Amino acid sequence: MMKKRTMNKNKKNKLINDVVFKLESEGFEVFIDKISDVVTIAKNICISCSSKWHADYNQCIFCGSVNYQLYSCSKCKSLSSITNSGGKKWKCQSDLNCKDAKPMKNCINKNCPTNLDDEIKNIVDQVTDSKGLFSSKKGGLFVSQLWCLNCGNDLDKFISSQIVIKIQDSADNLLETNFKIFDNYIFVKDNKFLILNKENQKNSNYEKNIDINLLYLI
Ligand SMILES: [Zn+2]
Ligand SMILES: [Zn+2]
Ligand SMILES: [Zn+2]
Repeated sequence: MMKKRTMNKNKKNKLINDVVFKLESEGFEVFIDKISDVVTIAKNICISCSSKWHADYNQCIFCGSVNYQLYSCSKCKSLSSITNSGGKKWKCQSDLNCKDAKPMKNCINKNCPTNLDDEIKNIVDQVTDSKGLFSSKKGGLFVSQLWCLNCGNDLDKFISSQIVIKIQDSADNLLETNFKIFDNYIFVKDNKFLILNKENQKNSNYEKNIDINLLYLI
């Protein structure tokens, strides 16, 4: 009796990881269901230019610049990393070793009103304590991303999709799909990839790379 040769489990896992890695490198969040070889991908993008929307970035409410994790000395303006401070009392990092200086969480943009306008500068200085925190209950200078970093548009959306990853044997030409249940299929054969979905059901050419633009996303 002929027994269909099953693919080595490690090899199969490696091929699935290749697909997952490619999706992650395109900025997708990838949720893997190991049992069914189905991955769910999701991405927060700009409605207008489809650039990734960074929900973890903060932007200055005055000028929109991204907030880097930096403190600047209130006296000499030298910069130091927030993450390196490790809970110790903040001290000016420059050679000047400024006395009575405060760590300011300033906007990186030198032309921002928070760095040019004396009135705003004063307010920021007054509400910042010696640990670099705003004592104002109304919060700080920065809010979550408001505008696309690429085109400046102010609307974002989530796109997502369910993808079945099918590892094919070299001789396996059958492309089994069910688009009523899943949005996309990525077939993997001899280290090449073939994407099929509702909008593209006829293709049978395996390509060297996974063309993300061919995925059906909603
Ligand atoms: Zn600013
Ligand atoms: Zn200083
Ligand atoms: Zn955009």
